[in-house]
Amino acid sequence: MENARIYLSPPHMTGREQAYIQDVFDSNWIAPLGPHVDAFEQEFCAAVGAGHALALSSGTAALHLALLHLGIGPGDEVVVSTLTFAASVNPIVYLGARPLFIDSEPASWNMDPALLAAFLARRARANRLPKAVVVVHLYGQSADLGPILAACRQHGVPLIEDAAEALGATYQGRAPGTFGRAGIFSFNGNKIITTSGGGMLVADDAALIAHARKLATQARDPAPHYQHSEIGYNYRLSNILAAVGRAQLAALPERVAARRHNFARYQALLGDLPGVSFMPEAAWGQANRWLTIMTIDPQHAPAGRETVRLALEAENIEARPVWKPMHLQPVFRDYECLGGAVAEHLFDQGLCLPSGSSLTAGDLARVAQVVRHTLS
Ligand SMILES: *Cc1c(COP(=O)(O)O)cnc(C)c1O
Repeated sequence: MENARIYLSPPHMTGREQAYIQDVFDSNWIAPLGPHVDAFEQEFCAAVGAGHALALSSGTAALHLALLHLGIGPGDEVVVSTLTFAASVNPIVYLGARPLFIDSEPASWNMDPALLAAFLARRARANRLPKAVVVVHLYGQSADLGPILAACRQHGVPLIEDAAEALGATYQGRAPGTFGRAGIFSFNGNKIITTSGGGMLVADDAALIAHARKLATQARDPAPHYQHSEIGYNYRLSNILAAVGRAQLAALPERVAARRHNFARYQALLGDLPGVSFMPEAAWGQANRWLTIMTIDPQHAPAGRETVRLALEAENIEARPVWKPMHLQPVFRDYECLGGAVAEHLFDQGLCLPSGSSLTAGDLARVAQVVRHTLS
């Protein structure tokens, strides 16, 4: 009999979601607002330590609204990490602004603070500062927020944090996503918790969240009739999905523990193989290990990343290359990138292993066996 497929990061339900959904049906709050949306926002604020939160239809929508609130528009420049998923960049382009990409540093694989600081200093002298910086906390690990924030503050450039993958991680004991002007999170089906699709915008600035809330509901002015003085969007999260999110959020600590356990098992089972390394954990915080990433150096290993990926696929196991950097994407080829070699190297050698919080010891052993066989 063929082995069941092992997915990269499948949804992991707690068993309590359906009781929450039953309550939605019993109360007939089948709408993109309602008591579960309000409660999810409050519980999320408590979980990450944010002042205010807005539940939305996706993380992409959250980033779009954050940038809109900052007044980003045609011709503006927005600095963003190059090693990320396209959703970190697309909203910049929706607004007619130009992304400018920055390479990673090796300790966390996130935006290099030294490159950012030097760039902002150069642009300050030329009186051409970018309108915002979007820093990504990749694969559940915080970027080095201290020096990134310092550089942004020195030049008065607002920082937006893309923490879509980093719910449950820490930076010096606090949640990444709560350091900048605004932070965004995702509850897409593959993330550490899921509402099937959804997102959250957080900020300490009540006015920012109030404006984003208005924009997310077709920008209705406070009037008894329908009146609009700016362009709005339909971005709110459904009360049904917020109910799912509440059950999921309550399980976050267990989900982080399970993902960190996966990482430790892979490292124990495969760490001795020549040419094999794992994504480092920077000293400034704790990663949620959303995905376990191994790198394979073809100079020291008998096979490369793609050979291993195909061997896993042949055994019905889903693995994926590390994100292809944005500066290598055909759609973004016209935009500048500062550095790029670190991100390119990680893309060449990095492989994301199955990392779901529902993986069994048997699943982990099955994956590790295929990798070991291919690299021995
Ligand atoms: C998933 C993800 C997003 C987008 O979130 P959606 O909810 O899918 O729109 C943005 N940035 C990063 C880094 C992501 O991984």
